[in-house]
Amino acid sequence: MASNRAAGNREDQETVSGAEVIAWALKKQASYAASAVGYLTGRPGVCLVVSGPGLIHALGGMANANMNCWPLIVVGGSADSNQEMMGAFQEFPQVEACRLYSKLSVRPSSIEAIPFVIEKAVRTSIYGRPGACYVDIPGDFVNLQVNASSIKYVECCMPPPVNMADTSAVSAAASIIRNAKQPLLIIGKGAAYAHAEDNIRKLVDQCGLPFLPTPMGKGVVPDNHPNCVAAARSRALQHADVILLLGARLNWILHFGLPPRYRADVQIIQVDICAEELGNNVKPAAALLGDINAVTAQLLEHYNKRPWQYPPTAEWWKVLREKMKSNEEASKELASQKSLPMNYYTVFYHVQEQLPRDCIIVSEGANTMDIGRTVLQNYFPRHRKSLEHFPCRLDAGTFGTMGVGLGFAIAAAVVAKDKNPEKRVVCVEGDSAFGFSGMEVETICRHNLPILLIVVNNNGIYQGFDAETWKEITKLGEISQVGPPVSLLPNSHYEQIMTAFGGKGYFVQTPGELQNALTASLAEKTVPSLINVMIQPQASRKTQDFHWLTRSNM
Ligand code: ADP
Ligand code: MG
Repeated sequence: MASNRAAGNREDQETVSGAEVIAWALKKQASYAASAVGYLTGRPGVCLVVSGPGLIHALGGMANANMNCWPLIVVGGSADSNQEMMGAFQEFPQVEACRLYSKLSVRPSSIEAIPFVIEKAVRTSIYGRPGACYVDIPGDFVNLQVNASSIKYVECCMPPPVNMADTSAVSAAASIIRNAKQPLLIIGKGAAYAHAEDNIRKLVDQCGLPFLPTPMGKGVVPDNHPNCVAAARSRALQHADVILLLGARLNWILHFGLPPRYRADVQIIQVDICAEELGNNVKPAAALLGDINAVTAQLLEHYNKRPWQYPPTAEWWKVLREKMKSNEEASKELASQKSLPMNYYTVFYHVQEQLPRDCIIVSEGANTMDIGRTVLQNYFPRHRKSLEHFPCRLDAGTFGTMGVGLGFAIAAAVVAKDKNPEKRVVCVEGDSAFGFSGMEVETICRHNLPILLIVVNNNGIYQGFDAETWKEITKLGEISQVGPPVSLLPNSHYEQIMTAFGGKGYFVQTPGELQNALTASLAEKTVPSLINVMIQPQASRKTQDFHWLTRSNM
């Protein structure tokens, strides 16, 4: 984890070795976990890796962090500097390799330069648009001795400076919103990272704006707020005439801001800390460059001076509420189906009923993540007691990365243990997604992290087969002896991975068994659990106006 004490005066010691400044670790999930620490705390998590393959395993986490705009520092060991190009053990062009995956990739020129480089890496990771940084430490630095007085310790950087938007842009934005017929506020994970929940909540309440969170913007304003129109997502996007975009890019997650998912004449007011982001894909009607919290405060100030509220009786509300009602009814109908195996909606309905309201939800998978997001509610961006901020949802994110779930859950549980031990982490995984990092269950058990893992098991990727069909398929000709590539072994007992390491495992097939397993798992305050929930192998989403989160709807 990042230390504020990277700097300090060490003149009291005569010599210091490189090994005191760095340490080593080896695990692929470490870079995912460290990046989630960065997102959750606003300080970069640090991932230490060995050379060559160790570093290459961390590239996934660096890429994911950079794509998500999360701070991360990877420190990699590398071959001795005097053996370069000689075919040294695990030698690899690491600094070059990391350039594509980071904001900064650098090797200190000497041990003396390490504090300077670390300060720069910390600062770069959190200033401006957050991202990943790589620091390369050659093996010979570890044992080399240098005179302590030759090392210049650098004070750690100040917290990121907060910048406000140009006041004329704020006034322009405020009047565009005032004149909107069908306004919509979109809350992205930049807003969660920026801790902007209090001001955004005030803006929603004061101006009566309908809002829509992106997957990781969920919880900044609670999902059960009356102005949340998540259940009418497609309709809200399609018909809004003015959109205030707070910390979300107009990328594939938001369908590029283009028709047919949006009106061709939609006016977008973009708020972002990154100037280069402003105008991507759509020319904004107003571009507000600055920190979301500060810019939202500027907008609030404007509306305090000249109060305005979007009329609650507007036709737009009627349109949105009608769609929300019919979508919610369709989900409820699916959730109430009694047939076995269960469908996704039935499972998530029961999970939602028992989830602690202030838990951190981690989720990955295809349908598991997409449907789970629509049913599982996020309520509290902050914990009531400690007022410690946590974004409350972590998932496959901008890069759509599978394999992040358990690393993220570990990071969230470690951060929660440190700051707020009562906070629960619930990690909802598809069976295929779980396969990417399932062995991290050992890490979870080793550290006694009371994570609740729920594996929603349909025997496959997108869809699988029941045991009978599987038997039939694998009996056929040679090529299909292993079954279609998207199916996994039916009825796998993933819960036994948890019991193998001392946690609690549950294999559930009915709503009653699921309820009991949830009650028992959540009552456990120190022991991790895994609930393996068998669902219909061919279960899918309810019919959509547009496909969600796929490239096919571009
Ligand atoms: P989502 O996945 O929720 O749509 P994105 O990751 O696409 O969100 O967008 C997040 C945006 O938030 C990025 O463009 C990033 O530059 C921006 N951002 C991050 N921190 C801040 C901040 N403190 N103030 C303003 N914008 C921020
Ligand atoms: Mg599956």
